[in-house]
Amino acid sequence: MMRLALLGRTLGHSLSPAIHKRYLSALGLTGTYELRETEPEQVAETMADFRARYDGVNVTIPYKEKVIPFLDSLSPEAKEIGAVNTISFHHGEAVGYNTDCTGFGRALRHAGIFVKGASCTLIGAGGAARAVIQWFRQEGAASITVLSRHPETVGADFLTMAEKGVLSLRSLSEWEAAEEGGDLLVNATPAGMFPNAEGIPVEEENIRRFAAAADLIYNPGATRFLKAAKEGGARTMNGLYMLAAQAAEAETIWTGRAVPDALVEAICRELETMV
Ligand code: NAP
Repeated sequence: MMRLALLGRTLGHSLSPAIHKRYLSALGLTGTYELRETEPEQVAETMADFRARYDGVNVTIPYKEKVIPFLDSLSPEAKEIGAVNTISFHHGEAVGYNTDCTGFGRALRHAGIFVKGASCTLIGAGGAARAVIQWFRQEGAASITVLSRHPETVGADFLTMAEKGVLSLRSLSEWEAAEEGGDLLVNATPAGMFPNAEGIPVEEENIRRFAAAADLIYNPGATRFLKAAKEGGARTMNGLYMLAAQAAEAETIWTGRAVPDALVEAICRELETMV
């Protein structure tokens, strides 16, 4: 029997137990998936308990970086991003992964949106943006532009990537005024998320200049951002498939079993009724 859990601070509305129970039963496996709400000063103790008694753990805000010192090794993605959302405990070894990155990539491919050679623009410079940037880098995007309301206050890793020429970091308002388009625009901010569904991270006319658009938000399924992109004729995706896909990638890490797209799609349909 698999023993799994989610580590975070406030987990009341998490969909993860429902998603993982569904994957386990579809894969013919039995297991438990617990919510482990943990205060910062208890993280070391909780990690020791996980290592002693659990097969796998997901990690969410605010511990995706804080767990790293408790691990034996990191996947290449997790190392580059500097954050972990999935841990496996196989043969006493704790290995950290980042399936936000691989789940985002799997969702894009499923939506028929390809990054190789594409000009990619990303709004937001937080945790999710780091996973998106790593996917863009792995896939060989032609250019990566990161837009921030306050580029002078973003994390040092964004500044380092900008200095090295990995990405170009720009002020959101100046970019809006420049009226630029491109191949793919990604919203990695909470602007437009329930209950503030009237929010939008950039003006609609800027969104309409892109051939494809992805919103990491899944509630609502059609944000104002995605509606504007569709009006401009773009191929679009919301964050629901990414949510299901990052969990599918975690299941594969824990169980060694591939999760087919048909199962991810079935779980997305069930999630649509839950969000
Ligand atoms: P985060 O670390 O708090 O970062 C949010 C970023 O958005 C910050 O750079 C923030 O910039 C910017 N921002 C916030 N409000 C904005 C606005 N109105 N206009 C422009 N920029 C704004 O959050 P995160 O963890 O990266 O998550 C971002 C979004 O992705 C959330 O909606 C989250 O639910 C979603 N997400 C979805 C999945 C999935 O599986 N679908 C996975 C992870 C995250 P400032 O510093 O200027 O405030």
